[in-house]
Amino acid sequence: MYAEIIASGTELLMGETQDTNSSYLGSRLPALGLEVRQITLVGDHLERYAEVLERSWRRNPFTFTTGGLGPTVDDVTREAIAQVMGEQVQVDEEQRQVLLRLFRSRGQQDMPARNIKQAWLIPSARAIPNGVGTAPGWWAEKEGRVIVALPGPPRELSLMWDGHVVPQIKERVKGSVVLTRTIKTIGLGEALVDEMATEVLGVANPYVGTYAKPDGIYLRVIARGGTEAEARRLLDPVDHKLRAIFGKNVWGVDDESVEETVGAMLRGRGLTLATMESCTGGMLASTITDVPGSSGYFRGGVISYTNELKIASGVPAHLIEAHGAVSEQVASAMAQAARARLGADLGVGVTGVAGPEALEGKPPGTVYIGIADARGAKATAYRFPANNRTLVKRRAVTSALIALRASLLEG
Ligand code: AMP
Ligand code: MG
Repeated sequence: MYAEIIASGTELLMGETQDTNSSYLGSRLPALGLEVRQITLVGDHLERYAEVLERSWRRNPFTFTTGGLGPTVDDVTREAIAQVMGEQVQVDEEQRQVLLRLFRSRGQQDMPARNIKQAWLIPSARAIPNGVGTAPGWWAEKEGRVIVALPGPPRELSLMWDGHVVPQIKERVKGSVVLTRTIKTIGLGEALVDEMATEVLGVANPYVGTYAKPDGIYLRVIARGGTEAEARRLLDPVDHKLRAIFGKNVWGVDDESVEETVGAMLRGRGLTLATMESCTGGMLASTITDVPGSSGYFRGGVISYTNELKIASGVPAHLIEAHGAVSEQVASAMAQAARARLGADLGVGVTGVAGPEALEGKPPGTVYIGIADARGAKATAYRFPANNRTLVKRRAVTSALIALRASLLEG
């Protein structure tokens, strides 16, 4: 069954707000048996909104809208739905009472006059309760086709989605179960992954797509069936085949993160870890400790942002003089110092240029990652796209964890 998403808000068109709501919905609809065919962004403009809404409503059993349910004149979702369905809005007494109670519970005796539009309904719509905000959603249904209007604030949207919309969609969309599996690979380029997966690509069901991500290339398998068992019968063989093809290049599945994968490996082998970070400013240690139970293997870390602190923490001064702080030699020495000084089985050192300025003649985005274990230390050079400091740091962290995984696989 097909669906479209329409996100409204002039701020989305201006790039001031990122349209995360469409991604939220888009990632959840396939599992409910709804295939998203189009996502449209439209400003707060009744005529244009009604135009895209009408087109979607006429050709899809389900249309999902986000935003435009506020109390102000530029919130036109209700007006657009009324226009498309050819009906008049009217104040619904029950919804008016819900709103009045909400304002009183917030210590306001009177409700601002503008808010009354949040109590509007049309004959073909019923209100979907909003657990946190003033704007109820709308479930509008006519001629067998549904428009679900959801609020713009992401938290209101997700609460309404899980609490009130998903159960109703499950009720309506039967006989089509979609199962997905994401297989996460590292160390191979997208073109090579595509080539290696040739035999399972180009099939409609199960469908396999490849995506380039900061932590490698993902393969996403989507299988549809009349029942869960049927969808699983289609999914499992492709899942097994891909794991066999990509072998050690697979570092995780579905929602697994690389820090969880590395954490599980360290725990499984009874090894401990310590870090010494420069350009990532503690982000590596922070990411490692995002994993519950990381205290079982993570000893701690040093943020040696200056050369003085690197030297005080055990990096030989002559290495910094000879090669610069951003170098393979210093990354290795940091990893070794972390391991030795903090008493861990494994040490990681990260040094690089987050940007936007070059450092020691090295361009922004240059990062060296060292890994030290009982066998010694070695470092790898990376060059990340350098347009954003936070992104360089994040990529350095991901790469450090991936390097750690590789080293654990070898050892
Ligand atoms: P609205 O209901 O259109 O007045 O939206 C209220 C607020 O929700 C906006 O100011 C944004 O901060 C947020 N918002 C609206 N649409 C989206 C969207 N598509 N993705 C993420 N946030 C949104
Ligand atoms: Mg808006």
